[in-house]
Amino acid sequence: MALVNDHFLKLPNNYLFADIAKKVNAFKAMHPKVDVISLGIGDVTQPLAPAVIEAIHKAADEMATRQGFRGYGPEQGYDFLRDAILKNDFLPRGIHLDRDEVFINDGAKSDTGNIQELVRWDNSIGVTDPIYPVYIDSNVMIGRAGVQENGRWSNVLYMPCNAENGFVPQLPDRRVDVIYLCYPNNPTGTVISKAELRKWVNYALKNDTLIFYDAAYQAYIQDDEIPHSIYEIRGARKCAIEFHSYSKTAGFTGVRCGYTIVPKEVTAATLDGERIPLNPLWNRRQCTKFNGTSYISQRAAEAIYTPEGKQQVKETINYYMQNAKKMLTTLRGLGFECYGGENAPYIWAKTPETSSSWKFFEEMLYGAHVVCTPGVGFGPSGEGYVRFTAFGSHEQTDEALHRIENWLKK
Ligand SMILES: *Cc1c(COP(=O)(O)O)cnc(C)c1O
Repeated sequence: MALVNDHFLKLPNNYLFADIAKKVNAFKAMHPKVDVISLGIGDVTQPLAPAVIEAIHKAADEMATRQGFRGYGPEQGYDFLRDAILKNDFLPRGIHLDRDEVFINDGAKSDTGNIQELVRWDNSIGVTDPIYPVYIDSNVMIGRAGVQENGRWSNVLYMPCNAENGFVPQLPDRRVDVIYLCYPNNPTGTVISKAELRKWVNYALKNDTLIFYDAAYQAYIQDDEIPHSIYEIRGARKCAIEFHSYSKTAGFTGVRCGYTIVPKEVTAATLDGERIPLNPLWNRRQCTKFNGTSYISQRAAEAIYTPEGKQQVKETINYYMQNAKKMLTTLRGLGFECYGGENAPYIWAKTPETSSSWKFFEEMLYGAHVVCTPGVGFGPSGEGYVRFTAFGSHEQTDEALHRIENWLKK
C-alpha cells in the first residue's frame, strides 16, 4: 500500500483564483449580457516584444537544420544567456557574480517552490504577510509549516505588512532559519529601500538566517534609489539566494524562463556545525530533477538584452505603469487609501470600513462589474484590502475605472 504524503491534505482545498472564478461565473450565469472586466488577474496581456519574436523564429529555424539542432542543453542554462545576465542585470549595479552562480529556470515559481528542498524539514520559516502563496504552500507540502489554525500555519512566523507600519515589516524578535522576502512586493506593490533591506541582511548575518529573495518585479522599479537585487547590499552573497523571472519583465508567462542566483558563499549547517555551500547542492538537485529550460526560450530571453529588446521591453512596462498611475489617481480621488503602484504593477487598496476583502470583492463585482483580488487570499494581514493589477489594456483599465466611479456615485 502506498501511503500518501498527508501534508498535502492540510492544504486548503480551494485556491484563491479558483474561488474568484467561481464567484465571477456565478455572477455571469445570472447576468449573461453583462461583460465583466478583470483587474484581478496576475497575468500580463501585451504581446511579446518584436526582438523576442525574431529570436524565437531564428531559434526555431536553427532547430530545423542538422547543424543547428539542439537536444538536451546544460541543466544550468546556456552560457550565452548566463553571460548576458551577468553583463546586464548585475555588472552595471557593481555586482560581480560568476557564471556558475547563475541557474536558468523555467520561471521563478518552480525555483521559489523547490528551493526549500535544500534545508531540513525542521527549519523555521518566516514570511512577510500578505505574501505570494507559493512560499508557504511549498513548505506545507513537506511538513515544515505545521498545522493551520485560523488561517495561520503553526510553524510559520508571519511578519505583518499593513498601513500601520507603512508596509515595512518589523525584524523578528527571535531568530528564524529561513526568511522569504519579495520586493517589489506581490500583492501590495510596495518596495523596500536600501536602508531597510540592509537591516534584513544584517539580521540574517547576525542570526545565521537564510534569505530567499524574490525579485520577479524588479524591472518595474522607477525610483533609482530602490534596490533591484539584494546583492546591492554588502554581505548578502553570504546569506541570500535570489530569484528572477522574465514573466513580468518581458511578458514571458507563456514562454517560461527566468533565473536563480545561488552565490558560492551561501552555506547552511549540518547538525555538527559543518558549513555546506548551497551552490553545489542546488546544482546537484537541478541535474537530478531538471533537464533545462528550452533552447528557444533561452534565445528569446537573450533578445531582451539587445538594445532593441531593452527598449521594447521598457515600452511595455511603461504601458502598464501608465495604467497604474491612472488607477492610483482615480481610486485616491474616490477616497480609497491606496499603496504600491509606483514601482510595481499592483495597487493595494484598503476596503471601506465595513467591508471585508471578500465582501468588497462581491460588492464591486455586482455593482461595477469589475473584478479585483481579495487581499485576505494572500494571508491574514491582507484582510480589509484588495489588489488591483495594472496588467490590463489601457481601454479595459479606463473602462473599469469609469465603472467604479459611476458605481460609487450611485
Ligand atoms: C509572477 C510571480 C513570479 C514568477 O512566476 P513565473 O513562474 O516566473 O511565471 C514569481 N514570484 C512572484 C511573487 C510572482 O508574482
